Amino acid sequence: MPVVRWGEQTFPLHGNETVLDALLRNGVSVSYACKSGSCGSCMLQAREGTVPARAQAGLKDSWKAQGYFLACVCVPEADLAAAPLGAEARIRATIISLGNLSPSVKQVLVRRDVASDIRPGQYIAIIRPDGLARSYSVAGLPEEDVLEFHVRLIPNGRMSGWLHNDACVGDRVTTLGPSGECFYVPGNEDQPLLLAGTGTGLAPLWGVLRDALRCGHRGPIHVFHGAVHQGGLYLCDELRSLTQTHEHVTYTPVLLTGDPIPGTEIGAIDKVILGRFPKLAGWRAYLAGDPDIVRSLKMQLFLAGAGSRDILADAFLHSAD
Ligand SMILES: Cc1cc2nc3c(=O)[nH]c(=O)nc-3n(C[C@H](O)[C@H](O)[C@H](O)COP(=O)(O)OP(=O)(O)OC[C@H]3O[C@@H](n4cnc5c(N)ncnc54)[C@H](O)[C@@H]3O)c2cc1C
Repeated sequence: MPVVRWGEQTFPLHGNETVLDALLRNGVSVSYACKSGSCGSCMLQAREGTVPARAQAGLKDSWKAQGYFLACVCVPEADLAAAPLGAEARIRATIISLGNLSPSVKQVLVRRDVASDIRPGQYIAIIRPDGLARSYSVAGLPEEDVLEFHVRLIPNGRMSGWLHNDACVGDRVTTLGPSGECFYVPGNEDQPLLLAGTGTGLAPLWGVLRDALRCGHRGPIHVFHGAVHQGGLYLCDELRSLTQTHEHVTYTPVLLTGDPIPGTEIGAIDKVILGRFPKLAGWRAYLAGDPDIVRSLKMQLFLAGAGSRDILADAFLHSAD
């Protein structure tokens, strides 16, 4: 039976137990959220032993080379010595602004003590002083060391509730990351882009859109933002204004229910997108937000001809408990 070594302690792994579960079972305090290898909150470093490839999927090469891995999906076949990440990966940061984008969405700006290489659209784990960790997509980088997040208030949500109601400018948090492949890659400036998301799934899309324009993207860029009702939309004026200054950008708000409103589609976001663009061969798509909608859209876009490598998606998975 393989063991996990943690400092001076040794914990045998039970059956197919993950490193995260073994550490938690033995009372070790480790940050985590999704428990499915998506959010990056539980990243650790292997000091000795071999990490299974699945536990490093999606991590950047320099992190793999340093032995970083996601403890929640790491089931080692042999003994593994693990340790918390070093200071180079966990960067302390200060909340410098808390503004309202809508009654349910806060714009949170944090300044990291050290700037690092992040692309708008990637995501970062924010870790509160008590260890609670949640991932948020980077909606923009107003300055090199400042990150912009859009946080939707979830009923009884521990992190979103704190950021909406209790956090103050000046509060300190720890940031971990970036992770994720949902960012603009220069080099194919005429390719049509589809940016589709629901709720605060708009955050990475807003980052990707502005980055694509900054990089001189010339091909059409179609933004679809879905919400259940009008109150779930935000940044409408900013997006409309971008369509006026950039004629290759379109913006379509999509409401699941309600009476018709000029300039807004009513219906399911996937039906609206596929109704307008039934053939997507050669397109690149960025998807974010509700996990079920992201999963379904991914499949439908693929069936409509988009290459799987051209579909970049971040599902906003909930925390596991
Ligand atoms: C890769 C990634 C990127 C993300 N980016 C963003 C982002 O940019 N903006 C953003 O607002 N969120 C984002 N999230 C979601 C975010 O990480 C948190 O899950 C969310 O803020 C809720 O955390 P919480 O602590 O407030 O709620 P919790 O305390 O974790 O949950 C409270 C209760 O609400 C339920 N719940 C949690 N989330 C939802 C939901 N979305 N809808 C309905 N019920 C829910 C839980 O199951 C639980 O019962 C992202 C998630 C991932 C994995």
